[in-house]
Amino acid sequence: MALSRKQAAGYGLTLAAAWLGAVLSGFTAFARQVDLDAYDWIFRLLPPQPWRPEAALLTVDEPTLVSMGGLRRLREILAEGLERLIPAGPSVVAVDVTLADPGDPEADARLAAALSRTPQLVLASEMLPDGRDWQDPLPEFARWAAAVGHVHAAPDELDGVNRKIPLEKAAGRQRRWALAFEAFRMSRGGGPVVETPEEVQAGGRTIPARREDSRALAIRYLRPDPSGVTPLPRASVLELRRDPALAGLFRGKVVFVGVTAQSAARDRLVTPYSSSRPMPGVEIHANAFETLVQGRFLRPVSETATLGLCVAVAILAGLVFAFLAGWPAYAAAALLLLAVHTAPLIAFRQDLVLPFSLPVATAWLCAGAAASYQHFVVRRQLRRAEAEKRRYQQAVQFVTHEMRTPLTAIQGSSELMSRYSLSEEKRKQIAELIHNESRRLARMVETFLNVERLAAGQMELRREAFAARRLVEACLERVRPLAERKRIRIRIAELGEERLVGDQELMEYAVYNLLTNAVKYSPTDTEVTVSLTREGDSFRLSVRDQGIGMDEDEIKNIFHKFYRTRQAIASGESGAGIGLSLVEQIVVHHGGRVEVSSAPGKGSCFTLILPANASAIPQPQ
Ligand code: ADP
Repeated sequence: MALSRKQAAGYGLTLAAAWLGAVLSGFTAFARQVDLDAYDWIFRLLPPQPWRPEAALLTVDEPTLVSMGGLRRLREILAEGLERLIPAGPSVVAVDVTLADPGDPEADARLAAALSRTPQLVLASEMLPDGRDWQDPLPEFARWAAAVGHVHAAPDELDGVNRKIPLEKAAGRQRRWALAFEAFRMSRGGGPVVETPEEVQAGGRTIPARREDSRALAIRYLRPDPSGVTPLPRASVLELRRDPALAGLFRGKVVFVGVTAQSAARDRLVTPYSSSRPMPGVEIHANAFETLVQGRFLRPVSETATLGLCVAVAILAGLVFAFLAGWPAYAAAALLLLAVHTAPLIAFRQDLVLPFSLPVATAWLCAGAAASYQHFVVRRQLRRAEAEKRRYQQAVQFVTHEMRTPLTAIQGSSELMSRYSLSEEKRKQIAELIHNESRRLARMVETFLNVERLAAGQMELRREAFAARRLVEACLERVRPLAERKRIRIRIAELGEERLVGDQELMEYAVYNLLTNAVKYSPTDTEVTVSLTREGDSFRLSVRDQGIGMDEDEIKNIFHKFYRTRQAIASGESGAGIGLSLVEQIVVHHGGRVEVSSAPGKGSCFTLILPANASAIPQPQ
């Protein structure tokens, strides 16, 4: 639909406001939660192709603890587990148990001995609760470690779901890489770590992990099996004790050793897969390790790109409703909404994480705003078209009503002339009458059309200065014969030498109309008084009669087209009830107004109040 420049600007502003609203709503906790839920949903919907895992789990589970002496004897349990594991030939062993405090000397010695034989050992270090330092393994354990990694996850502040781990973490002056990362590095030969602000490189992998976000790595959790367990080769220490051959599972594997017993594992966290069954920390580390092995990293779409996408969505929504109308517009908008809803899915397939709420809110708000705007503009245009039609119908009615009288006169007179042989004088008289009536008709049509054009904004008001007195006198001249016929005296109370500015022809029509009404609606032998005075910044032109008058309710209606009072109809005077509505429009276009005071049977006074100052006339729009 074609929009005017003003409408286009309004449309643009509406869309911009909707876009801004969407962006602001994107900052709410609700929007964040929606994004997180959408992420989890897509995550579960689109798991990566299964692969052969490199990690394996050696667990201290509930039965192990129960039958091997409980947590108090954890170090012996660990030592036994390692002793049974080592002969199988694992490639790396990462122990997710903090070994910072001395325990039973005998147990510690046994564990240290087992560690000393463990190939490519990675030990765990935990940050002190105040975040100032690390709880490193005791030196007697640490001396056998090829690397020490931190064991912290990064559960979301909003819903506590663990979707990432920070690859690096600093406490005091010391920084530690994540246990999973160190295990990965060791499994790839233990080379150096190369860092840029955007990425980390190790073991031949470039990991997109920005320093700004503590090098957060989104974990690609393996899809759990139906019982909710991560499908990694695993055995508990107790199972190994019972069936030493099980150790074969761990050959060449990167083995994560840790506590999984529900009663003991403090580090269980919910993941996108496990809302009901939190995952033990050691399993989370193994999943993070597998993510590094896979090398299919999820990257967040940058904020700038997301905002850019939203701008594009807003513009598209705007174009849809600017160029289409009706159902094609709604169908196109529905397609746009569908595309926006599925965009995060498509992005996820490309390993990109696109927020869900912001583009979706933008699409809904902008499409809604665009549709409403267009709806109301269409409605307004429709109303305008209807008003034009009404005006046209009224014009037709006017022509049929108002013109019938002069036309009848012309018709009758011309018939007289053609039928009868008339005296020269009579013929001249009738010819003059025909001439006058036809001129009156022409003037009437012209005035009516001019006022209509003015009201429709298709015509500018002429602005000429003229003597008010001359105009009033000209009107009086025309109305006098009518007045004389009814023996109505016309008295001029005051006629100043003022000059008016405006459209002389239209003003003459207005004044003439008031005068003819005064004469028409007055009984014989009465008086009509005309006065033109100046009061401050305005002229007051009043026509007072001693006629039939009207009550308050009637006064309210007389400016409506085709309205006539009952007494006026009863008076037998011809009229179409259109003159005063034209008078009012003319005066309003001149920046003035009409005042009426009247009482039934007592007469009326119509006063035109016009600005003396020409600049008060409103400029055409
Ligand atoms: P018309 O005179 O052709 O009916 P107008 O629009 O000029 O149409 O006036 C509308 C109505 O206002 C008249 O029909 C009449 O009822 C009332 N009216 C106008 N002027 C007077 C007046 N001077 N005295 C009494 N009634 C009037």
